[in-house]
Amino acid sequence: MTPTAAVAATDTHCPYCSLQCGMRLAPGVDGSVEVLERPDFPVNRGALCGKGRSAPALLARDVRLTGPLLRDRPGGPLRSAGWPEALDRVAAGLARTRAEHGPDAVGVFGGGGLTNEKAYLLGKFARVVLGTANIDYNGRFCMSSAAAAHRRAFGLDRGLPFPLADIPHTGCLILVGGNPAETMPPAVRYLRELRENGGRLIVVDPRRTRTAELADLHLQPRPGGDLALALGLLHLVIAEGLVDREFIARRTSGYEAAREAAMAHWPDRVERITGVPAHRLREAVGMFGGAATGMVLTARGPEQQSKGTDTVGAWIDLCLATGKAGRPYSGYGCLTGQGNGQGGREHGQKADQLPGYRSIEDPAAREHVAAVWGVPAESIPGPGMSAYELLDGLGRPGGVRALLLAGSNPAVSAPNAGHVTERLRALDLLVVADLVLSETARLADVVLPVTQWAEEDGTTTNLEGRVILRRRALDPPEGVRSELWVMRELASRLGVSTGFPVEAEQAFEELRRASAGGDADYAGIGYDRIAAEDGVFWPCPTPDHPGTPRLFLDRFATPDGRARFAAVTHRPAGEEPDEAYPLYLTTGRVLAQYQSGAQTRRVAELNAAAPGPYVELHPRLAERLGIADGEPVAVTSRRGRAVAPARVTGAIRPDTVFMPFHWAGAGRANSLTNPALDPVSRMPEFKLCAVRVERAHQEVAP
Ligand code: SF4
Repeated sequence: MTPTAAVAATDTHCPYCSLQCGMRLAPGVDGSVEVLERPDFPVNRGALCGKGRSAPALLARDVRLTGPLLRDRPGGPLRSAGWPEALDRVAAGLARTRAEHGPDAVGVFGGGGLTNEKAYLLGKFARVVLGTANIDYNGRFCMSSAAAAHRRAFGLDRGLPFPLADIPHTGCLILVGGNPAETMPPAVRYLRELRENGGRLIVVDPRRTRTAELADLHLQPRPGGDLALALGLLHLVIAEGLVDREFIARRTSGYEAAREAAMAHWPDRVERITGVPAHRLREAVGMFGGAATGMVLTARGPEQQSKGTDTVGAWIDLCLATGKAGRPYSGYGCLTGQGNGQGGREHGQKADQLPGYRSIEDPAAREHVAAVWGVPAESIPGPGMSAYELLDGLGRPGGVRALLLAGSNPAVSAPNAGHVTERLRALDLLVVADLVLSETARLADVVLPVTQWAEEDGTTTNLEGRVILRRRALDPPEGVRSELWVMRELASRLGVSTGFPVEAEQAFEELRRASAGGDADYAGIGYDRIAAEDGVFWPCPTPDHPGTPRLFLDRFATPDGRARFAAVTHRPAGEEPDEAYPLYLTTGRVLAQYQSGAQTRRVAELNAAAPGPYVELHPRLAERLGIADGEPVAVTSRRGRAVAPARVTGAIRPDTVFMPFHWAGAGRANSLTNPALDPVSRMPEFKLCAVRVERAHQEVAP
């Protein structure tokens, strides 16, 4: 495939996951774009996975949108349109909805893949131009439970409080519900180096994944068992005298309540809840509790639950009780998922938040941001609905009736996706900005084609809190515009003629000012500095500040400087198996696809490697149900049904089936998932629900 314009040799970063691997784009043969390694970039040291290597395939005109599309009547076809007509239609529709139903009837839905500049201006656009409280983003579906637990314990949320390069130097790492061997393969090097240095690796996962294969110890709990498992380990740490009393006294608060909670989770009880034998719990405690340093990293497994915040809190309590936090080579961290999953949650596209990771309910924060925006503080709306609540309310009384959506594909990626698709169809106006005609864009009244990573400047913040710079390497196709340009044009049509720069660096300069003094303080970070230093870690309040690769070494970010124990107890998931739906379903990602697949399903070599959905089930379960490997299988939950070929494997528990969630159509895993929300983070319970599995006879997934 050939791109649309000549490429200049450019150092940049991968468009996909939160590792944000460094890469160089260079002219290839026949005008194509070639991906070269950047061995000097410290995060991935030249290594890339297949997704990163094949990313230029999406620059080709034949896989992407190259001009706006409009629908003239509900149910009618999308047709080509010019930008003025498309923008006029959007502006008129937004204005009409606002006039007829009030500003909160207009909504904005963003994405964790958007650059910091886009996320920042999207938040400003919602509050200043539209005047709506209702802006949220798909990152709510990703790391919000870890973020909530982080803030509760440490007073600050940054995915990793230390660089990845610290991992090989820790004594014992517990990785809970993450599979970097498939989701971010270059990061596996850190796990291998850890083991080469004599450190121990414990992986907690209901499936024996490629990452679990690398571990010294694999704990395989039932889905939803992570909270009880963490409490069982804490119980044993206390019982075996492995607590760090000096650390607890000097740097924490709330230990007694956590100790009492853990005492109710003795090994036999935890074995009954989780299915993990008590002797394995003791083995894990021996490794972790006995190590001088240790880390716990969580990913979506424990986080995407209706008790995700408490589950992460329990793992943090384990770190705190053993003195493994706020010290070199020790601590709790979260492996962020999306490319800008970290920065995307810091600068205002979240319903409860203003730039710099400020609370939208904090009067001082509102004053600060209002001054940067040049508006009265009282004009900034308060908190709005969280992502699933916003989607669930689309087109209903009191809900959003006109939605502007950027960088997200909820028709595939939202929980209970069949219902969410119905709600999207019920809107008076759906506007989608995307680079491809995603399943959600197909439902839109107006589709706006936007630029992508290699065609624009912009910053992202990787899972370490390292702010990095993507550079424009080539021109986009003629009919394609950046979201920054779209926002300026819409703002102007809606009566706001200033404050929406089109140049990313100008937007970043404003973001610096807006973030100054906040938790995620970018004030000292400029484009030139990022390029010169291979990224800068926030907080970085002044240009002469070195940045902060390691947080919490002297004090935690709570008012008294102490980390707070969560003191939580086990509770069941939102939905447990029963007679009608006797099995757990858990969902996740595969190596060659990314998130909703809107991009990677359009890349031939990735599609060849991972062509469609499947249902993983244990041989004993397959035998009991009379299902042969490769045979179509129907999976049914209380919300929907999905059909995909069986993949029979001993790597999964007999009481659990697994489906990857990258596909639409009959094999859409999110037709099944449960939108039960965590009460604190408002994270839906993607990671488990109750299902029934049976042979699907002649049905096949597309
Ligand atoms: S690991 Fe992530 S950032 Fe690195 S090349 Fe693969 S998808 Fe891109």
